[in-house]
Amino acid sequence: MKNSAQNSTKSAIDYKVDSLLAIMTLEEKVGQMNQYNGFWNVTGPTPQDGDAAKKYDDLRRGRVGSMLNVRGVKEVRAVQKVAVEESRLGIPLIIGFDVIHGYKTLSPIPIAESASWDMEAIEKSAKMAALEASAAGINWTFAPMVDISRDARWGRVMEGGGEDPYLGSLIAKARVRGFQGKDLSSASTIAACAKHFAAYGFAEGGRDYNTVDIGTSTLYNTVFPPFRATVDAGVMTFMNSFNELNGIPATGDSFLQRDILKGKWGFDGFVVSDWGSIKEMIDHGYAQDLKDAARLAVIAGSDMDMESYAYVDRLVALVNEKKVDVALIDDSVKRILKAKYELGLFDDPYRYCDEAREKKITGSKEINEAALDIAKKSIVLLKNELNLLPLKKEGQKIAVIGALANDKTSPLGSWRIAAEDETAVSVLEGLQNYNKNEYTYAKGVDVTTGRTDFVYELDINTTDRSEIPQAVAVAKKADVVIMVLGEHGFQSGEARSRTQLDLPGLQQELLEAVYAENKKVILVLTNGRPLALPWAAENVPAIVEAWQLGTQSGHAIAQVLYGDYNPSGKLPMTFPRSVGQVPIYYNYKNTGRPNKQDDRIVFWSHYTDEENTPLFPFGHGLSYSTFEYSDFSINNEFNTNGKITAQINLKNTGIFKGKEVVQLYIRDKFASVTRPVRELKGFKMVELTPRETQTITFELKKEDLSFFNNEGEFIFEPGEFEIYIGGSSITTMGDTVTIE
Ligand code: BGC
Repeated sequence: MKNSAQNSTKSAIDYKVDSLLAIMTLEEKVGQMNQYNGFWNVTGPTPQDGDAAKKYDDLRRGRVGSMLNVRGVKEVRAVQKVAVEESRLGIPLIIGFDVIHGYKTLSPIPIAESASWDMEAIEKSAKMAALEASAAGINWTFAPMVDISRDARWGRVMEGGGEDPYLGSLIAKARVRGFQGKDLSSASTIAACAKHFAAYGFAEGGRDYNTVDIGTSTLYNTVFPPFRATVDAGVMTFMNSFNELNGIPATGDSFLQRDILKGKWGFDGFVVSDWGSIKEMIDHGYAQDLKDAARLAVIAGSDMDMESYAYVDRLVALVNEKKVDVALIDDSVKRILKAKYELGLFDDPYRYCDEAREKKITGSKEINEAALDIAKKSIVLLKNELNLLPLKKEGQKIAVIGALANDKTSPLGSWRIAAEDETAVSVLEGLQNYNKNEYTYAKGVDVTTGRTDFVYELDINTTDRSEIPQAVAVAKKADVVIMVLGEHGFQSGEARSRTQLDLPGLQQELLEAVYAENKKVILVLTNGRPLALPWAAENVPAIVEAWQLGTQSGHAIAQVLYGDYNPSGKLPMTFPRSVGQVPIYYNYKNTGRPNKQDDRIVFWSHYTDEENTPLFPFGHGLSYSTFEYSDFSINNEFNTNGKITAQINLKNTGIFKGKEVVQLYIRDKFASVTRPVRELKGFKMVELTPRETQTITFELKKEDLSFFNNEGEFIFEPGEFEIYIGGSSITTMGDTVTIE
């Protein structure tokens, strides 16, 4: 979908939309703006859904435009049939689903994929997700989540692109391209949805759904760019968000939805509310009742109501009472119908409903191979001492310790509505399948006990230490110990905020007990957010960040541990030393007192009990090779193409072929609105054989050196800039130059 600024002439689809709109009743128009959660199974409305009878009736009366969480071709066909064959106008539904990182076959959670810094692989992963979901009847995913977050306490960092707006924007675009492809009307592509507009990732204290109160500079320079990038990539839909921003719930915020998104950015798709977020404006203290909430949301530019029952039951009256202009309804309906036409749903409402195709595509070899590929690329080697990695392929006695090593569900992460439990390859299985080294497993301690699912609070108060001695005994007999520790799959994700960023439960105690017996520990972390593990970083010789890698998890981890894939991932989010440092992020602002002046004088910006530096910085990630950077140079004059160039030599000084993500950072030293100490503005993935050297050249345009001022204008201010190139955000190789 092009944005309207580029597309002022009326298209064939616009004509179709207009003629359909002309014959719709007000009630039918409002119906298009209503989205219901699935209430159907193949035999009819489910008795579990208390509102099933109403929903079914509304469907027949043309009072539903979309449904979510309807699974599989049979169910989709059943609800689509009612809409198409029983309602007066037969307008097809658009079927939405949270295809966040796969449908039934899962690729790594999004924060993990982001650690690959590999846009091709990320795009492919979204493409595979679209392929499998579309084969199950889905037309539309509620992804990508492009919320920037600097707060690892917030559970939904697992679902995003990390803390950086530049990297986040590229990832956002890659995901949109992957889901939507080049041809939206193809049955293998689905509409994407950029969410949650806006600033959801800045919830105070990292507590999900909480108040957001951020300044203009952060909004324009940090929050908006990835959203804007999705508009440029042609994203079909947006979702607004649960949070309020500076006193206005995002769902009712016309500055966000009308002025910025549909105005300045010319977005001509539609905006869906988040689940019940229209109704939630009452609890926010913004709307007086459901009718008022419907009025505020539609005026602010929310086109579709997800499960608030606000539009379907209140909008007609609001228009009749002249409290809402029917032109607003028409605009929303046009946007929704346009998307349905573009998806090809009017040509054939059952085009996504082919059972033979569903059977053939679900879990196919192609999809699983892509999932394995990106799983390997998502792993970040945080530390590697004592030459522990890569592991020797033969003659090794290996202890595998930790409940998560034997977990076939947690690697699937928290957004996996369509995937069955126990369908991931566990680390233990991956290793055992890999070679004939001798593996002995011991659980040690549980990560959680009791019920674990998407909606239920986990029981993390584990107290059972009884199996720690056995784990220690297993470690004692081993040549090497692989400990798989971290978070349960449902410990991150929506509503999974934490105040601690440690290893939950008794896992730290287990780690220390095992390490005391055998120091050759490789710690494989599986988690959905940055963790603060200072003891491990100090003591454990090898640490591998393996996140939650999806269906192929164990295979990917085995290949990396044995060196068949040389790790190449880099952190997309800073890992803190302690929770008290959060929010901690690489692109912070300097203070007026950045440095210690005197040994004992306290008046500088610091903590008295912790350093300011992170445990592992943004952009950090090792390889089994080592890389040497040298000969930085920069030409500070814009060439005839309007670019300045910076370059560096990169040498592989190790004994393995390996990939390095070479990163370029800038600092605008003095500006009319203060700028961060570092900003990522470019990166290149370079593969080098041992002893090979390459010259890496970066080009910077004026745009890369510009920023948004507090009026929302994008400006370039000539002056002094620092330019750095290196293997992480703390590189010091660079120079200060004047750029005019
Ligand atoms: C989440 C959205 C999601 C929606 C539908 C909400 O709770 O915030 O991200 O798309 O549910 O499942």
